[in-house]
Amino acid sequence: MTDDADVVIVGGGPAGLAAAIELRRRGVARVVVLEREAEAGGIPRHTAHLGFGVRDLHRLLSGPAYAARYVQLARAAGVDVRTETSVTGWAGPRTLAITAPTGRGSLRGTAVLLATGCRERPRAARLVPGARPLGVFTTGALQQLVYLEKERVARRAVVVGAEHVSFSAVVTLAHVGATTAAIVTDEPRHQSYGALAWATAGWRRVPILTDTVVSSIVGRRRVERVELTNVASGATHAVDCDAVVFTGDWIPDHELARTGGLVIDATRGPRIDAALRTSARGIFAAGNLVHAAEAGDVAALSGRHAAAAVAAFLQRGAWPSTPPVPIVLRRPLRWISPGAIDGDMRPPRDQFVMRVGAWIDDARLEVRQGDRRLWQGRYRRLVPNRSIALDAAWTRDVERAGPEITVALDRD
Ligand SMILES: Cc1cc2nc3c(=O)[nH]c(=O)nc-3n(C[C@H](O)[C@H](O)[C@H](O)COP(=O)(O)OP(=O)(O)OC[C@H]3O[C@@H](n4cnc5c(N)ncnc54)[C@H](O)[C@@H]3O)c2cc1C
Repeated sequence: MTDDADVVIVGGGPAGLAAAIELRRRGVARVVVLEREAEAGGIPRHTAHLGFGVRDLHRLLSGPAYAARYVQLARAAGVDVRTETSVTGWAGPRTLAITAPTGRGSLRGTAVLLATGCRERPRAARLVPGARPLGVFTTGALQQLVYLEKERVARRAVVVGAEHVSFSAVVTLAHVGATTAAIVTDEPRHQSYGALAWATAGWRRVPILTDTVVSSIVGRRRVERVELTNVASGATHAVDCDAVVFTGDWIPDHELARTGGLVIDATRGPRIDAALRTSARGIFAAGNLVHAAEAGDVAALSGRHAAAAVAAFLQRGAWPSTPPVPIVLRRPLRWISPGAIDGDMRPPRDQFVMRVGAWIDDARLEVRQGDRRLWQGRYRRLVPNRSIALDAAWTRDVERAGPEITVALDRD
């Protein structure tokens, strides 16, 4: 049986809940959030350290407190939050196929917002050779076991990756009394902030092995050691451990976007314009699905921003009749979000977010539309796997009927 709502939101993390609260504040009557887990709140539910809520709630909270606060605000606002409800596909335009403990059904929204978040690329997708023993995790899986299931998952682990989340993994391991034998990155340096790296791994004397990859995982039932290879010299050595944690290297949870036939862009999530509209009428996307991965408050503010456009769509039913102007990045720039512009609407927080594929010191960037330079600016250093903000003031000069916009290093 198909049920109806004004807005159906898939994903009860910070982005989905913040959007739902804002929609209710704007007077939208029937706002339903569908969340597959037993509790809403998203990833922060099992990220048991401080660092959440500064830009959106204007307070510093732990992940679980932040998640609980959003759930409480959503319920108080009259949002219909349905947990243990997985969206498994599309049953028609803006109609979602759902599976819940009560059975299967479908739910149609006048508008749909996808806020399904992102995940870390698991070991299999990273094509790491070796055995397949127990003891191989992503940070997300590790934190669920440690903080939600209270399991003592490891005694001595190797953490693969050296971005912000990798250092969070070190803290989680320490929480269950496990040491981190090494942090391993194929980059020449770690990609987090110096203070964060010191506060989590530095004082614990965790070695950071740069230019290094895991060339094999060894173990029969359980991980016994990893073999590491230096990518520059080819030298290998083994490190004894009973767990390997693959961190970062994010991939948007984009299955619904793909099966819904939405245009996918370089972010590997659905292409959105600055109003967070996807390529399909009435379908919006927000949070880490469209920028994998930013901080929780950035995801929440993206949900709040989407809510304004969703509410306008509900009121007027207006939708662009032609595709937006795409924004194309030249290497070594990797992706930008939003990846398209329609008119002079500004993106969330008046910023685009970007990623690069290489370390670039004293970088000069320029934004062009055809022959016209819309913006240029300097960055002291661009770091892979780290968020880069691009001011959106130039969007007012975009010609709606003009050619694609390019963002590139200015090498003149
Ligand atoms: C280890 C770690 C440490 C972090 N530390 C910090 C920090 O200190 N500070 C900070 O600000 N941020 C931190 N973050 C980032 C923060 O958790 C994310 O930015 C935030 O959770 C993104 O919100 P979201 O709503 O986009 O996605 P998520 O939180 O991932 O929520 C998406 C939700 O959608 C649900 N879902 C997905 N698909 C379906 C489906 N088909 N049907 C139904 N439900 C579905 C999921 O179950 C999930 O609950 C950290 C992240 C990690 C992994």
